[in-house]
Amino acid sequence: AHPTLEIRNVTKTYSVKQGLMAKPKPLTALRDVSLSLRKGEVLGLVGESGCGKSTLAKILLGLEAPTEGEVLVDGQALGSHDRLALARRIQPIFQDPYSSLNPRKSIADIVSLPLRIHGIGDAASQKQAVRDMLDVVGLPARVMNSYPSQMSGGQRQRVAIARALIIKPEVVICDEPTSALDVSVQSQILNLLGDLRREFGLTYLFISHNLAVVEHLATRVAVMYLGRIVEEAEAGDLFDAPAHPYTQALLKSVLTPEPGLGVPDTQLGMAYPNPIDPPSGCAFHPRCPKAGPVCSATAPVPVPMREGHVECHLFDPKSPLYEDTSR
Ligand code: SF4
Ligand code: MG
Repeated sequence: AHPTLEIRNVTKTYSVKQGLMAKPKPLTALRDVSLSLRKGEVLGLVGESGCGKSTLAKILLGLEAPTEGEVLVDGQALGSHDRLALARRIQPIFQDPYSSLNPRKSIADIVSLPLRIHGIGDAASQKQAVRDMLDVVGLPARVMNSYPSQMSGGQRQRVAIARALIIKPEVVICDEPTSALDVSVQSQILNLLGDLRREFGLTYLFISHNLAVVEHLATRVAVMYLGRIVEEAEAGDLFDAPAHPYTQALLKSVLTPEPGLGVPDTQLGMAYPNPIDPPSGCAFHPRCPKAGPVCSATAPVPVPMREGHVECHLFDPKSPLYEDTSR
């Protein structure tokens, strides 16, 4: 069977200016990335801010076009699908429930909008659908006449979830859906997303900078660093035995007393590199505790491992850094 959603050898390059007088420079947000989202799974996509994960989400949603490579839905090029029909099947939930809800519209108007866009039902049935959906996401029917400003962050994210699910999509692309929320509210929203997935048989791409948040839901995990997926594995394998030094560092940072803060600089020695001027060879080498001479000279290639891959010289039998620890 075809994967539901797939990107194949996608590169995305932007032209950016740093300062008014500066010449525009190319910024490669994604570099020859392939990834597929299979029906029914929760694929966690993890990486620090600036690694390209939101760009990947936008490309999957058709909001941005790849510079090279292709996006396939059920094995067919994205461009060959009817956009409106596609929006019924693939819905986003974004990070910031403060800016993604129109402040001048009532909750009833916001949640019913997709039904009106897609011409589903009459006014009475749309109203009933909103009532039902609010109940599903744990909001009382009386909030229908409220406005976003009258609600808490957690309630607003429930509204955003209701709006995404009201047209019964198959795939939901969640881009940092809990990152703007208080820690106490985050787990409520994660539990809700897990319940909804089981209830409606949804497929999620779940994007986060926080490996702990991803561990909560993901069945498979892809780890991104500077526009590359450096490790991909079943969630159990990845959390039990992270292979890539970057995944190991991310996991360690999750276990520090202050989870949710991303990777502390103390853990990795220095800040995230500027994507305009990426390090040579393996882009992780300036921060990698296991780097050898080959790492700054030559970029590692993806090596198949378990159900996924890892991109690191330590795992490539052809590399001088190969460590045969009988894995
Ligand atoms: Fe570290 Fe080298 Fe592996 Fe990159 S290739 S993660 S620098 S050991
Ligand atoms: Mg982002």
